[in-house]
Amino acid sequence: MRRQMGRAPNLITLDHHTDVHEAFLGHAHLETYERGGDAWALARDLVKRIDWQNDQSLLWAIEHLRHDEHIDAATLSGVLNYAFCIQLSDYSGNPSIEQQAYDADRQARWPQPPTLPPPCRPMTYGIPGNHIFVISHDCAIGCNRMPHNDDCVVEHGNMVIESIYLDDQLARGAEMSRCVGIEHLEAQPYILDIDLDVFHSRQAIGPADSTTFYRLIRNAVAITVATEAECVEDLKFDGEAIDASFLLAKLIDHINEAIG
Ligand SMILES: [Zn+2]
Repeated sequence: MRRQMGRAPNLITLDHHTDVHEAFLGHAHLETYERGGDAWALARDLVKRIDWQNDQSLLWAIEHLRHDEHIDAATLSGVLNYAFCIQLSDYSGNPSIEQQAYDADRQARWPQPPTLPPPCRPMTYGIPGNHIFVISHDCAIGCNRMPHNDDCVVEHGNMVIESIYLDDQLARGAEMSRCVGIEHLEAQPYILDIDLDVFHSRQAIGPADSTTFYRLIRNAVAITVATEAECVEDLKFDGEAIDASFLLAKLIDHINEAIG
């Protein structure tokens, strides 16, 4: 897609995890373990050498990237522009400028109360060096349990592609994208990436309102799917009889329905 388009598309990814490890760091640690040297510097040097116009370069990269390093490799090598991660495992996501200021103030003043009020949305964001925005979440939309508990996890997971949930995630993503000059994320070319381990139940893959999910499918320049069979097995809710092949079949039905 990058070669066809003349510009780098963005990525919108739906995943249980954030998948934002530094490209080649696993390989670089191994390389520097015996010989010595700075693994971080080596990893950064290797990612700079990726040439997306060269098949050999890409094959080398694919061979040497470990789990969860691919998004970082793609954004830093210019295959992708920015990545926006809708995910279930990191509720705070990329911290906003306001949140960082509040946290710093709170820490500096402790044990006195902070002088700044807790930040509220919409918020602003600095440009992440890796071009990856991990989108924050609170809980299931409408949840007002305090504290949140195990019931919340199920309620939250079950609505992961409901329109009401994706609309909220995309609104948070828009606050981020505007800070890097992307006024309307969906108006620019994007790849939709779906890791099947984001679905923890039958209900999660069968939303009551699929309007937003279908719009994301229809407007994507490409869709990639990671089946993640082991993670699906590990993360599914108790009593759920689902596996990666079941979820893949359901997802393909959705894609056909959306573009049909
Ligand atoms: Zn909750």
